[in-house]
Amino acid sequence: MSVETKNTIVEQIVDPFDCLHFIDGKFVPSVDGKTFNNVNPVTEEVYGTVAEGSKADIDLAVAAAKRAFEEGPWGKMSTQERSKIIRKVGDILEARQEEIAQLESLDTGKHLKFSRHVDAPRAAANFHFFADYMISVGTEAFQDEVHGAINYGFRRPIGVVGLIQPWNLPLFLLTWKLAPALAAGCTVVIKPSELTPMTATKLMEILKEAGVPDGVVNLVHGFGQGAGSAINKHPDIAGIGFIGQVSTGAKIMEEASKTLKKLSFELGGKNPNIIFDDVDIDEVVATTIRSSFTNQGEVCVCGENIFVQRSIYDEFVEKLAAKTRELKVGNPFDLDYDQGALVAKVHYDKVMSYFKIAEEEGATFVTGGKRPEGLDKGYFVEPTIITGLEYGARCTREEIFGPVVSIIPFDTEEEVIAMANDSRVGLSNTIWTNDIRRAHRVAQSVESGLSYINCWFVRDFRTPFGGTKDSGLGRVGGVHSWEFYTELTNICVKL
Ligand code: NAD
Repeated sequence: MSVETKNTIVEQIVDPFDCLHFIDGKFVPSVDGKTFNNVNPVTEEVYGTVAEGSKADIDLAVAAAKRAFEEGPWGKMSTQERSKIIRKVGDILEARQEEIAQLESLDTGKHLKFSRHVDAPRAAANFHFFADYMISVGTEAFQDEVHGAINYGFRRPIGVVGLIQPWNLPLFLLTWKLAPALAAGCTVVIKPSELTPMTATKLMEILKEAGVPDGVVNLVHGFGQGAGSAINKHPDIAGIGFIGQVSTGAKIMEEASKTLKKLSFELGGKNPNIIFDDVDIDEVVATTIRSSFTNQGEVCVCGENIFVQRSIYDEFVEKLAAKTRELKVGNPFDLDYDQGALVAKVHYDKVMSYFKIAEEEGATFVTGGKRPEGLDKGYFVEPTIITGLEYGARCTREEIFGPVVSIIPFDTEEEVIAMANDSRVGLSNTIWTNDIRRAHRVAQSVESGLSYINCWFVRDFRTPFGGTKDSGLGRVGGVHSWEFYTELTNICVKL
């Protein structure tokens, strides 16, 4: 890869490694010895192997997790004791941030600027937050004066949980599920994405160093049909925390229904950005660049459809395009660049296929629509702005999950709400206006789990996060995570 200024390249302090499963406190190969290749998204070269798990490996992992849950010490520890260990995991992650960030960039192709500022610190913050949160949260209580009784809620961990993870924010999202599960007292079997196995494997080392007892957290690598499906069907798994595509969620639900598992799903979306004509366009453009192309557009709350009120449409398109052309795509370890590579060939091919679809649908490519000139290797895609499509075209309906946005004009509030709601999914939206009444009215009218007004990707861990319609099941964050990983018993005491 060509680089212009050598002193902007960050020294690589970690090397890729072969990934094994982690079961009952030990790194182990697959029972049947199978492995698959891990491919560097920047060079397209194989840079490691990954143990390929199957039902036999999941059975061992679940047995270890079940023993650890039933025989202790994890399930029998006080919340305060568990919280101390969970805090320590966060401390170690914080101290090793650069290593974590570099591993994440190697595995995903994402730019180091992003993994340094988002992925790595957020993984540590997830543990710190839930370590504190779990020791402060209470349950409900009712005084029944008619019968002379009190009722109070008592929560206990649900048992062994399966965590099935995606590739876009691998450690950030894994720890977002794992930290509350551990804080609640559950034991865990993790299946990371087959495309990004490294930081999850590294985390196992860190958990051990922090004092998480053997068997409490187990990790099995592999594919959906093998290891994933075995988690869905395992009778000793009480619940599944899943993040990924809508279609995968449906398959998990089908297979998990036989054993009536609790399910928490964070799924895909097609998020609308709604921009009214009373805004400061430069301010909106500055955030829209981020909400469109951050992490190569591979963030679940990125806004793929940008609805702009007609009177400012031309100016907005021109200004967003000018800023987009300034983004530099290339080596994720070179700080002179802004955007890295997509995660894998399969995803690169999917994103490129939408350029063909857009062309057939009559789109205009204001920017991008191809791989960057001069980058012959790696899954790089130019930041792409599409205009000229009617809402309803495939590119405006289907989640592309890459550096691709469509800009669509609208005239009235009613019209844009109708377009935003004419969708099977409803994860998040962003509303830009200085009219306070309209801002709240629109936020309450658009069907989605999360609405950002005059901002994007601002996160308070105490608040509910999740999707409506096909974008998910349940909510996570703060008390919502705690509720998922615990079972509630009402205890009625006659006084
Ligand atoms: P994916 O559904 O393809 O894969 C996710 C995980 O599921 C992987 O570990 C995969 O191996 C596993 N899997 C696949 N088939 C399975 C099966 N039948 N049974 C059990 N496990 C199976 O998703 P992805 O491509 O890795 O992730 C991108 C998607 O995730 C996008 O749609 C994105 O919007 C979504 N996402 C949503 C959120 C959110 O918070 N709502 C966050 C991040 C990503």
